[in-house]
Amino acid sequence: TDAPVYDKVALIGLGLIASSMFWATRRAGLARVVSGYARSGETRETARRIGLCHEVCDTLEEAVADADLVVLAVPVGVMGAVAMAMAPYLKPGATVTDVGSVKRRVIEDVTPHIPEGVHFVPGHPLAGTEHSGPESGFSALFENRWCLLVPPESTDPAAVARLRRYWEGMGALVEEMDPDHHDLVLAVTSHTPHLIAYTMVGVADDLRRVTDSEVIKYSAAGFRDFTRIAASDPTMWRDVFLTNKDATLEILGRFTEELFALQRAIRTGDGDALHAYFTRTRAIRRGII
Ligand code: NAD
Repeated sequence: TDAPVYDKVALIGLGLIASSMFWATRRAGLARVVSGYARSGETRETARRIGLCHEVCDTLEEAVADADLVVLAVPVGVMGAVAMAMAPYLKPGATVTDVGSVKRRVIEDVTPHIPEGVHFVPGHPLAGTEHSGPESGFSALFENRWCLLVPPESTDPAAVARLRRYWEGMGALVEEMDPDHHDLVLAVTSHTPHLIAYTMVGVADDLRRVTDSEVIKYSAAGFRDFTRIAASDPTMWRDVFLTNKDATLEILGRFTEELFALQRAIRTGDGDALHAYFTRTRAIRRGII
């Protein structure tokens, strides 16, 4: 158990990420008290029942009162609205962060609502599962996973350093990055793969009349491994594509070009082209642990 990094942490939105942050914070003793707020009464009830957070609050005001760190862990599309609603209750000197999967848009939406004297240090833990909601979290989620912080240049370095210590206390490896670069990198490594996984399942479902339920019944390693992420939360992923439009369209365009090239190679029986492509990608994939 490390020394507490913050006296009070407020978690706003009690889904997979926030609930994992609570268990990780408690395990490592990173805060004296963690408060939680979720918009739905049902989520708050569940949180109370399973002991998620030291206190579950019925209002944003109670949750963020006196908090040294406020974590926005809601879908990207509502970050701005939640920031606006909680702004009047933030303690001077507090830090606000977020865990959203898209960074440029969150910075644009949240920054105007941050009061003078409050620090905003946007972040994104590169860790998740296909599960969502208050019961899906676990304390080891962030262990040895990257957490990217994207603070604007004017941000107080002490606030950034403290947030870094907090994430490191939860087991994460922390790095700073430019928000636009973040959004492009994540479009390649996470956002577009999710879109492709959704289409794989969609196509299997469209073919249901032809294959009956065989696709599901016999789902082999390829389909099973590749489509696990298609079970992810629809609201979260809708917001990712609406808010990272340019980067995901750019990557989707490249993806489409490669697929067309492979399609042509298959149609024309160009085994050399297929073999060369798969040889190159195997080497790259083997380099990823
Ligand atoms: P989740 O669906 O498990 O939880 C989201 C929570 O936010 C729910 O409790 C929901 O009720 C609540 N919520 C929604 N609208 C709200 C509002 N207006 N006010 C208050 N609460 C509201 O989602 P999650 O996976 O924990 O994702 C939260 C954030 O973390 C998202 O921004 C997502 O992009 C990001 N993220 C997700 C993953 C992942 O793999 N799931 C990974 C990294 C970052």
